[in-house]
Amino acid sequence: MLKFLNNFITFDYYKCQQCGICKPICSTKAISYTLLPNGLQNISIDSDKCIWCKKCVNACPANKESLYTNYFEEFPNKRYFLGYNKDNSLRRESSSGGVCKTLIIEGLKSGLVDGVYSLKCSTQYPYAEGAFYTRENIPAYTEIPNSVYHSVMACLNFTAIQRCDKLMIVGTACQLRALEKVVKNKCNTLIKVCIFCKQQKTLDSTRFLAKVMGTKIPENLNFSTCYRGTGWPGIVRVNESELPWNRAAQIPFGRRLWTVPGCDVCGDSFGTECGADISLMDPWEIRQQNDLGETLITAHTEKGLQLLQTIPNLVLEAKTYQEVKPALSLKDVWRKQQLVPFFRGKDCDKEIMKAGKKERQQRKWLQLIVERLPRMPFIFYRALCKFPDLRNRILK
Ligand SMILES: Cc1cc2nc3c(=O)[nH]c(=O)nc-3n(C[C@H](O)[C@H](O)[C@H](O)COP(=O)(O)OP(=O)(O)OC[C@H]3O[C@@H](n4cnc5c(N)ncnc54)[C@H](O)[C@@H]3O)c2cc1C
Ligand code: SF4
Ligand code: SF4
Ligand code: SF4
Repeated sequence: MLKFLNNFITFDYYKCQQCGICKPICSTKAISYTLLPNGLQNISIDSDKCIWCKKCVNACPANKESLYTNYFEEFPNKRYFLGYNKDNSLRRESSSGGVCKTLIIEGLKSGLVDGVYSLKCSTQYPYAEGAFYTRENIPAYTEIPNSVYHSVMACLNFTAIQRCDKLMIVGTACQLRALEKVVKNKCNTLIKVCIFCKQQKTLDSTRFLAKVMGTKIPENLNFSTCYRGTGWPGIVRVNESELPWNRAAQIPFGRRLWTVPGCDVCGDSFGTECGADISLMDPWEIRQQNDLGETLITAHTEKGLQLLQTIPNLVLEAKTYQEVKPALSLKDVWRKQQLVPFFRGKDCDKEIMKAGKKERQQRKWLQLIVERLPRMPFIFYRALCKFPDLRNRILK
């Protein structure tokens, strides 16, 4: 997070969401990034070059505090769908049902949007980068990455966005929040597609997964990785090693370990506070038992609904709120929101304080155990996950 304090711009690593907008937005090149061993970027500000314009502070999404008023009240009135690409192979190779890639590619092909800012695959760590697509530059399905769980500074290339009539931006809530102001004047209609997200991971999470698979990430970060795709719920791949995603999800990987620090001060998984039109997530617990993926879609606005219903090659099955509720993770998002004031260092009531402290301790101990011990039999990790989750016990 960037703040203007005592006539200086200061950086708080523990609240940085790693969106990547502050460096390209600075016209005097006062901001520089240094890659840390955990795959996150440390940020420095050269006070000799800084002209205190505060553009970086205004764009920084971690700065925007939220009150989350009525966050959950609207959910029963939203429109829900299970969606997937008509082509089974594209659906199978995507993160969930390939809805996001379909919106980008078919949206551009059919002229429903003129420009899209999202990610493209790259050859160097973090293996994905921000890209601006137009009708003259439509990506192939394989050029757009599936869910990348380690940190990607997606906004770094936002200056590539050219003026267009209908612009779609795709990203997690923090990325959309960072982008929305800077793209507002570049289009007549802005469509925001939010990738539902409760936490972004550091590279240490992939190191742990690699250990469980019996392999390693080389120090020079020259490796290939894929976290999802190849049949629901997917397969994690580090170089040639593989781990089925349903196994990865059962081990401490899923227990809020190795989280980007700034994710602690974000409780807007659906992107509703930044005005998302559509959000996309996994349909855990509510989907049919086959290995073809489906995406759980929440249409927040009429604009989002209209786009969904006109996109070619997308199959939509309408669902009621009651049908999709088990997959919406609302309780989990609520718990995250409860702890935001604690992680922001604010005064909060005793119960929140206790839950926040326990959460920190639990993460610390669990991480120490799984990182320090050599590779253990799978049953060991499964047993660790059977221990009660202290945060959830307190915030019921
Ligand atoms: C960090 C992260 C955490 C997530 N956590 C959850 C969760 O807890 N529960 C849940 O239900 N769903 C979660 N998801 C969403 C889920 O994994 C799928 O992305 C979603 O269901 C859409 O699937 P799809 O097949 O329609 O997407 P696809 O058609 O496969 O397209 C994927 C899209 O996601 C974009 N993308 C991939 N990684 C990133 C990234 N790091 N930052 C920005 N954009 C990215 C790509 O550019 C592409 O546009 C998470 C996703 C991410 C990236
Ligand atoms: S205040 Fe302006 S000049 Fe200084 S670092 Fe931020 S964007 Fe750059
Ligand atoms: S959250 Fe984004 S804008 Fe804020 S400091 Fe981190 S990278 Fe920069
Ligand atoms: S939890 Fe929030 S801050 Fe963290 S990556 Fe997801 S949207 Fe961004």
